[in-house]
Amino acid sequence: MIGAGPAGCLAAIAAAKAGARVTLLERASFPREKVCGCCIAPRGVAVLGDAGLDHVLHGAPRLGSVRLSSGRSSVRIDRDSGVALSRGAFDARLSRAATESGVDVLHGTSVTVGIDGAVQANSDGAEWTMQPSVCVVADGLSGRSLDAHPGVRWRVAPSSRIGLGAILPPGSIDLCRGEVLMRVEPGGYVGAVELEDGRVDVAAAVDHDVLRHEGPAGVMARWLRDAVRDRHTIDTARWTGTPWLTRRRTTLAVPGILVAGDAAGYVEPFTGEGMSWALASGHAAGLMAARMVHEPSCWREWPAQWANLLGRDRWRCGLIANLLRSPRTVHAGLAIARRWPTLAAQLARPIGQPHRTSTAGHGVAP
Ligand SMILES: Cc1cc2nc3c(=O)[nH]c(=O)nc-3n(C[C@H](O)[C@H](O)[C@H](O)COP(=O)(O)OP(=O)(O)OC[C@H]3O[C@@H](n4cnc5c(N)ncnc54)[C@H](O)[C@@H]3O)c2cc1C
Repeated sequence: MIGAGPAGCLAAIAAAKAGARVTLLERASFPREKVCGCCIAPRGVAVLGDAGLDHVLHGAPRLGSVRLSSGRSSVRIDRDSGVALSRGAFDARLSRAATESGVDVLHGTSVTVGIDGAVQANSDGAEWTMQPSVCVVADGLSGRSLDAHPGVRWRVAPSSRIGLGAILPPGSIDLCRGEVLMRVEPGGYVGAVELEDGRVDVAAAVDHDVLRHEGPAGVMARWLRDAVRDRHTIDTARWTGTPWLTRRRTTLAVPGILVAGDAAGYVEPFTGEGMSWALASGHAAGLMAARMVHEPSCWREWPAQWANLLGRDRWRCGLIANLLRSPRTVHAGLAIARRWPTLAAQLARPIGQPHRTSTAGHGVAP
C-alpha cells in the first residue's frame, strides 16, 4: 500500500484483517499536518465505526452547524457535519491502528511503481525493491508514484482551483463551538473550524489568478476580514498550497494495481467529503486487494465498484462547486436559506451522510 493518509491506512487495515500480509509505505514522517478542512463527515465516521476504528476520533469536537456567508449575507444552517480532527492527529492515529492490525508501516519512505509492478522504495538514500502481488496506490492529489504507467495519467480540469490552508492559534477566528464557518467569495471559498486542541484550521479553494495577485495571506485576510480577531495571525501563519484540485485518473486499475482515495481523483472541498471518500474507497480497495491475492483478475471490477461507491456524491459535489462560481446563484441560495431555514437544512442533509448498506462497496446514497 502506498500512502498512509485515510485511504492507504483503511486499505492496509482492511487487507490485513482479511488475512493478507501488508506493508504500508509513507513518504512523510508522522505526525504531519496537511492542507485540509479537517471535518470528517458522518459518512467517514460511519466507515471508521464499521471498520472498528471509532477510537481514532477520540476527543474530536462534534460539528452541529454551518455558518455560510457571502458579501453581507450570512445564514446559519443546523446540520450534523460530523467531527473535526487535525490531520496531524487523525493520520497518526490511523497509522498506529494499521500497525496494531499487523501492518508493517514504514514512514519516511518514498515509493515509485515500475511498469512491471515492482515497487522501488527510497528511505534516507537507501533503496530497495519489492514485488508485491497487489499494490494499492493511495498517494493523494500530488501522487506521482504511478508516473511510469502511461495508462494511469492525471487529467486536470481546466477550471481547477488550488487548495490553501494553515492552522492558526486558538481564538484567532470568531467561531462558535461546533460550528463550521464557510465564506464564499468571487474566486473561491474558505472554511474554518476549531480543532480538538482549540487551534483553528483554515482551508480554502482559490482561483489561481486571485492567489497570484494577492498572495496567500492577502487573499485570506480579505476573505476572513469579518471573522479574524487579529490580522497579524493571518500574516504570520504558515500558508501551504496544494496542486490543482479538480482532477481524475484516466483509469483506476491495471493488473495488480488499484488506485484509491484522492489518487483516483478529486472534485473540490466545499462539501467536506474528501476524507470520507478516501476512507470508503480505501476500505473497499483493501478488501479487493486481499481478494486479488487468490483471484488476480478481479482488478477489472474496481472502476465500477469505485463509481458505485462515490459516483453520485462526487457528481453532487461537482454540481455544488459549479453553482458556487456564480455570485448571483450564491446570493439567491443564501436568501432562500434565510427565508426557509428548514428547507435549507433538508437540502443540505444528504451531503456527507453514510450510505445505507455496508462500506465494503455496494452502498447506495440515501
Ligand atoms: C483545501 C482543502 C480542504 C479540504 N477539506 C476537507 C474536509 O473538511 N473534509 C474532508 O473530508 N476532506 C477535505 N479535503 C480533502 C481531503 O484532504 C482529502 O480528500 C484526503 O486527504 C484524501 O486522503 P488520501 O488518503 O486519498 O490522500 P492523502 O491524505 O493526501 O494521503 C496521501 C499520502 O500519500 C503520501 N505519499 C505521496 N506520495 C508518496 C510516495 N511517492 N510514496 C509514499 N507515500 C507517498 C503522502 O505523504 C500522504 O501522506 C480538503 C482538501 C483540501 C485541498
